[in-house]
Amino acid sequence: MPKDRGTNDQPVVGVDLGGTKVLAGVVSPTNEILATAKRATKAEAGVDVVVERLAKTVRDAVSGAGLELGDIAAVCSAAPGPLDPEAGIVRNAPNLPGWDNVPFARLVSEGLGGLPVFIENDVNLGTLGEFVLGAGQGYQNIVGIFVGTGIGGGIILDGKLWQGTHKTAGEIGHAVVLADGPVCSCGSRGCLESVASRTAIERDIWLGIKAGRESGVTGILKRDNRQRLTSSILAEAYAATDPLVTEVIGRAQFYLGVCVANIINLIDPELVILGGGVVEALDDSFLEPIRRTAYQYTLNKLDAKSIEIVPAKLGDNSALLGAAVYARQRLARE
Ligand SMILES: [Zn+2]
Repeated sequence: MPKDRGTNDQPVVGVDLGGTKVLAGVVSPTNEILATAKRATKAEAGVDVVVERLAKTVRDAVSGAGLELGDIAAVCSAAPGPLDPEAGIVRNAPNLPGWDNVPFARLVSEGLGGLPVFIENDVNLGTLGEFVLGAGQGYQNIVGIFVGTGIGGGIILDGKLWQGTHKTAGEIGHAVVLADGPVCSCGSRGCLESVASRTAIERDIWLGIKAGRESGVTGILKRDNRQRLTSSILAEAYAATDPLVTEVIGRAQFYLGVCVANIINLIDPELVILGGGVVEALDDSFLEPIRRTAYQYTLNKLDAKSIEIVPAKLGDNSALLGAAVYARQRLARE
């Protein structure tokens, strides 16, 4: 391996690039996070601004760890997709204008003095992080589902990230669970994301309130001087068994359970990991109804309950740590 490509006994930087914030972390060869940095993404300002802010955040994290860019073996960043991780190209980002066939890895590399830069889908990275360092340790066949403003999924088969023929595998958020249901962010109807994401839960709670249903969330919003139903506000109302919130979340849990059963019937994994803001905030009380529905709809009743359905363990750091793992895998391969 040429020296300038770095080695696997140097730190790498993992980056979780989201629509609102970019979080970079310097990760040691033993997978400890040495330092992190974050700033707003400003996704609406275009590719060049995002690349510049991402590179700045990586530099901040590196200097926060008392290191220089030259000490870093490689960088891996989550990126919007569909994307080509081998070529480092974002093929398209449906919600971001100007993101068509962007050589994202090369642009970030140029902003970081030519460091090797890899990209992957954030949820694939989150699943990889959980597989190597979180809830999936010790398993070979796992599926990760992350529930937040959207829903994404990642698949590990025989110990390897399954990227699919066109590198777009794992899009469980767009599995259609209610044909002709609500319009999804992808333009289709009735995707899991359109009935079970935080966005969908929030929409349905407001629909209930506008229709005259009573709910404690209006009081919580007033008390906290907030407008949005964040995951923590949902968790508080759910814990207080607010009838409207319980009903709406129950519907989301049902569709998530149906989807988990579909995954089990299709892939027969050892483990299904649920993560993301909503799952983290509501914890195991959110998962139990999902397990019940999933096992009910699993074909192989004899073994259904041996397929564990568990919460993610790495919290906000799953994609960052998964990115570090992916960077090392790519360095070892190239
Ligand atoms: Zn969709």
